[in-house]
Amino acid sequence: MANIKYIGNDTKKLIRGKIHIKEGNQTGCGAIINDNPEDWVSTNEPVTCEKNGCK
Ligand SMILES: [Zn+2]
Repeated sequence: MANIKYIGNDTKKLIRGKIHIKEGNQTGCGAIINDNPEDWVSTNEPVTCEKNGCK
């Protein structure tokens, strides 16, 4: 499970349901996962984030 989906409610920062590449404690585009680990879930679904680092 290399990718990670945002399931949190902070839609100012991130879009709910968007799938990112996971790189250690953050996404490929630089969002910090460890700040709110409950807002993220591992997935095998393809990446949908189009920001640099994930795309
Ligand atoms: Zn991303």
